[in-house]
Amino acid sequence: MVDTTKTPSRLVPIDTVIAIDGPAGSGKSTTARALAKHLDLIYVDTGAMYRALTWAAGEARVAFDDADSLAELLASAELRLAPRNGETRVTWNGRDISTEIRTPAVETNVSVVAAHAEVRHRMVDRQRALGRDVGVVMEGRDIGSVVFPLASAKIYLDATLEARAERRLRQHRKRGVTISREDVMSEVAERDRRDSSREESPLTISPDAILIDNSALSLQEQLEETTEAVLRVLDEKQPCPVRSDRHPRDIPFRYRVAYTIMGAMGRFMGVKVYGRENANRPEGMIVAPNHISIWDPPILGSAMHNIAPIRSIAKAELFRYWPLRWMYRFLDAIPIKRSIYDAKAFDLATACLDEGSDILFFPEGTRQVFGSPGPVRNGIGMLMQRTGAPVVPVMIRGTMAPMPA
Ligand code: C5P
Repeated sequence: MVDTTKTPSRLVPIDTVIAIDGPAGSGKSTTARALAKHLDLIYVDTGAMYRALTWAAGEARVAFDDADSLAELLASAELRLAPRNGETRVTWNGRDISTEIRTPAVETNVSVVAAHAEVRHRMVDRQRALGRDVGVVMEGRDIGSVVFPLASAKIYLDATLEARAERRLRQHRKRGVTISREDVMSEVAERDRRDSSREESPLTISPDAILIDNSALSLQEQLEETTEAVLRVLDEKQPCPVRSDRHPRDIPFRYRVAYTIMGAMGRFMGVKVYGRENANRPEGMIVAPNHISIWDPPILGSAMHNIAPIRSIAKAELFRYWPLRWMYRFLDAIPIKRSIYDAKAFDLATACLDEGSDILFFPEGTRQVFGSPGPVRNGIGMLMQRTGAPVVPVMIRGTMAPMPA
């Protein structure tokens, strides 16, 4: 494969998306800007977008708790971000408001404005559009968790409240704003509280983000540590080339027994398989079917038997009760906890693919009505990105079971 996204002069592919999240004053802007410059990507300050709307609401006398009017104000505005002398130049309907959005008045109200779901949905659409065609380093509160859950690399920056308030104080003084240390400290603490406790996309640490506490780091050290972490993650995500030295795809005896039974069952039930040859690849692959019934895994097993060992990723709840638990364990299914990022399940699936086993992964995560596919969850994207394994899409029909969930 020729990777046209990476030219010799670039450190990272041109479509790289790096998410940097963290609380106020954690050094996101400085780090993200420097990283973007170093990696030749576009820097996007999403906080400036929420600040701009807060400033515009103040100008238009729209109440900060009036979600609908705020969303309307944003919908009709031309909001632009552009680099200027190492800062972000922000314009609202053509007016440069780069200085206005950094005042204490905006700072006090921005987290109230940013808490509205209506506002956030529109902002997220704009932010995704910014990263659609070019690589970006985007900083904010929900970049890794909501805006780009499949970002190429995610960093979460943190520091103690004291260190962050001290930085904010220095920034205010540099801009000629007079404000006491105590006021800055309570403003930052209040913003932390609002940003972390709001219902709509609160500030959280994505499970796959690298956490860097920079309270005791110099600026230089912080930049070095972040750059190193990003490059390391990007390097690990390089698609693995198809290997000819894979382990022979020996199918363990107990799998063969199960596949033979499933195959016979499938034939008895009149299962028809089309395109079976597409699944006959030398390397481990991710088999990705739609999911409509509890019979899908064994029926799929009957269709794929004798090709390669195939291991299902199944919700952890299924391992609770006999006989399912026995069956899943017998076939080395991988339990996955769906409410969190289950690192153990992903590690195991990666190791299996590396060994040449196939992984059965339902992209929708749960059963859906046939003909009405559900949204694809992030899990399969994460596994694809991490392993570079080929994905074989499969359509299943006619297995609808009368049995309850
Ligand atoms: O990063 P900055 O301090 O400029 O962000 C200002 C405010 O904008 C934050 O306190 C937060 O309330 C909001 N914000 C957000 N989501 C983002 C970026 C900023 O809610 N992605």
